[in-house]
Amino acid sequence: MDYKDLANLIFPNVKDASYYEEKYPERKLKEGAMVVRFAPSPTGFVHIGGIYTSVICSKLAKQTDGVFILRIEDTDQKREVENGVVGIIDALKKFNLNPDEGMINEEDSKGAYGPYKQSQRKEIYQAFAKRLIEEKKAYPCFCTAEDLDEMRQKQESAKVRPGYYGAWAACRNLGLDEIEKRIKNGEEYIIRFRSPGNEERKIKHHDVIKGNIDFPENDQDIVIIKSDGLPTYHFAHVVDDYLMRTTHVIRGDEWLSSLPVHLQLFQALGIKPPKYAHIAPIMKEEDGAKRKLSKRKDPEAAVEFYAKEGIPSDAAKEYLLNIANSNFEMWRKQNKTASIDDFELQLNKMSISGALFDMVKLLDISKTVISRYSKEEVYDAAYTWATEYDEDLKKLLEDNKEYSLKVLGIERGNEKPRKDIAKWSDLKDNIEYMYDDRFLNKPHTYEYQNINDKEEIKKVISTYLEKYFDLSDDKQTWFDKIKDLSEELGYAREVKEYKQNPEKYKGHVGDVSTVIRIALTGRANTPDMYEIMKVLGEDSIKTRLEKAIK
Ligand code: GLU
Repeated sequence: MDYKDLANLIFPNVKDASYYEEKYPERKLKEGAMVVRFAPSPTGFVHIGGIYTSVICSKLAKQTDGVFILRIEDTDQKREVENGVVGIIDALKKFNLNPDEGMINEEDSKGAYGPYKQSQRKEIYQAFAKRLIEEKKAYPCFCTAEDLDEMRQKQESAKVRPGYYGAWAACRNLGLDEIEKRIKNGEEYIIRFRSPGNEERKIKHHDVIKGNIDFPENDQDIVIIKSDGLPTYHFAHVVDDYLMRTTHVIRGDEWLSSLPVHLQLFQALGIKPPKYAHIAPIMKEEDGAKRKLSKRKDPEAAVEFYAKEGIPSDAAKEYLLNIANSNFEMWRKQNKTASIDDFELQLNKMSISGALFDMVKLLDISKTVISRYSKEEVYDAAYTWATEYDEDLKKLLEDNKEYSLKVLGIERGNEKPRKDIAKWSDLKDNIEYMYDDRFLNKPHTYEYQNINDKEEIKKVISTYLEKYFDLSDDKQTWFDKIKDLSEELGYAREVKEYKQNPEKYKGHVGDVSTVIRIALTGRANTPDMYEIMKVLGEDSIKTRLEKAIK
């Protein structure tokens, strides 16, 4: 028996690795095109960090006419949940991230380099493991859990590095005859990589984000095929990214320490490794210290949070790009209305340590993004959101479509559009007062800090209604009339005049218009009152003002 026979004994029915190398040839892409992949495990929770990685991958692929792949890494079947794959696909869809290749539902995929779910690629990994066994670079290991436990204890008491390496690697040097006998006896085994590494030596590596780093070589005989026949992450990564012809592995930096193993596996298989870019995680500040955004503690870690709050996906994407490259902010200042597709993302400009998640900033970006929507876009997006999360808003928009479009059109589509909406869950509160049936059925307080005398308020409103209100006025005339009203009642026409001689006046034009604004809307702050009045119309305005007088 030789190593070839051993490989055949272990994997009698798998194809030769060269079959797959021919089946998945090098891609014919233009120079510089990046082939990247998002490779999550279907564990049921999609972390915003995954969307962050996908935004980066999708952007780079688009920018370079490359390929963005969605690969599902489900080799740890204990951690898998039902519909986990669909959950990931839906999350990407919500953020409008569309992989060029990869899984499209629980079982099916698109693209010529599939299957794209690791559990469907079992024979492929086995073909490469077989090659390693033939070349004496991998071997079966019969150690049981108890054997490994015993080894660990011995290592602990001898105060040596833990692990399966060197002289501790009990099955590394078993004779072929013994191996054959034990396999034929039906003993359970796994396949380990025979590491050629030496802990004392260093390897140098250049990471696209982290820069030049060196590590001690790996000397652990890691597991490559588990007892269920599926590969470990390390081995699957190497085989998949080779056969999918990935040019850049973009992944979380928790994998950085595994890099020596991965490089060794590539070398053992005689393959040139892809470039690596290890992304620092998104961080959160708590009690003055930085920590990773946590699935348990931070609601904003879950993709579902963005959907529920109604933060538009383009706003979240823009925010993530903002975290990814610090020059994004400057670019945005100089290109206020450009599509984010026009920004050129650069991996080597990503921060080495994690950026802080800043909700205020995200909502601010979101306000700006929404301010650029047309009224029709606001209506459609809010309606879609409401369909899932707010039955009442859905009804409000549905029952009054034409009117709602007018409401949403207030201070929109002009030079300085309104910026008061950050998420769809804010919308109802921001527009509800525009609907008579809702506004008139609610009690209101009309007093506010500057004018809180009921009689005075009544006088302001009734004088306005009787003498100055005319909806056909143009904006300038309309405003002049509020000034006239102010003067008649003893308020300054201009704020400046009031500030120069406060003792001469009861207040100023701003106070008078606030009284009217509150009577009309129940709020001291709203978008432009002239536009609001135009949308409310004569009848509604009169009803509201008369109600206030009463
Ligand atoms: N399945 C791994 C994870 O979810 C993927 C890492 C990688 O992108 O290679 O962390």
